[in-house]
Amino acid sequence: MFQKNLCSVPISSEANVGSGQIIEHLSQHPNPTSFNWLDFSPVFVVILFFYGSFSPSLGALFQFVGISTWIRFTQMASKSNSPTQIWAHRVLQELTTLYPVTSTALHWETPFQLLIATILSAQCTDKRVNLVTPGLFSRWPTAQKMAQARQEDLEKAIHSTGFYRNKAKNILGAAQKLVQDHKGQVPDQMLELTALPGVARKTANCVLGTAFGKEEGVVVDTHVGRLARRLGLTVEKNPIKVERDLMKLFPRSSWTRLSHLFIDHGRSTCTSRKAKCEECILREGCPKLLT
Ligand code: SF4
Repeated sequence: MFQKNLCSVPISSEANVGSGQIIEHLSQHPNPTSFNWLDFSPVFVVILFFYGSFSPSLGALFQFVGISTWIRFTQMASKSNSPTQIWAHRVLQELTTLYPVTSTALHWETPFQLLIATILSAQCTDKRVNLVTPGLFSRWPTAQKMAQARQEDLEKAIHSTGFYRNKAKNILGAAQKLVQDHKGQVPDQMLELTALPGVARKTANCVLGTAFGKEEGVVVDTHVGRLARRLGLTVEKNPIKVERDLMKLFPRSSWTRLSHLFIDHGRSTCTSRKAKCEECILREGCPKLLT
């Protein structure tokens, strides 16, 4: 059964891994992606050159493969140890220490409720959504119940979250499709989730990561995008491209947690109006501060 208080809900696929264990893991593995291929590439190259010298017909081919392997491994090694990669690792470590318990601020008890709350949170604050959802879910607690609702009644119930006509249409359509295609249950697959009305990749990432502990991507909302740019982790503005850059820089096991950490820090310190750099734990090293 899913718990109501999100702050105590484990959030990643390694949901049973607490923040203390994550910090411990990070300190034992200074850079999770920094496996040094250079340690091995000379061995490959020597082997290929050795066989190449005994086989005149295949020699040129073996030597070509050897050189290509060397170049490729060198590129991989330099990329995995790039300053940005090391900085990203430090950001994750510092924010995990600062916010040891973190999750979505939306209130929910079941994956269905999280899905609906996340759809409602578009262009709206989590606080506002949390004021609306108790009444909404007491009247229509499941997909089966919501699928039978009248759109006008839904519109009234969610009016204060903004864009209520479109949102009511989407949550009604999503509930009906869940009943029709998934026996009223929320699927735990990206493709099936994004086939629901009103569900794009950001919402699907949130549901998969938070309700199912599946690390399929990074939720990129306005806070995450802003922090990622200020911290020099991306130059992109398109959320899909920001997500792609973050997925390359951070270990998969941290993706869900990462978005919650960025949102926490974006709300408390690196706010959109004025970043409180003087009190920020990341001020040493943050490129936004340095410029
Ligand atoms: S140092 Fe300033 S710009 Fe950089 S993350 Fe902190 S608050 Fe944001």
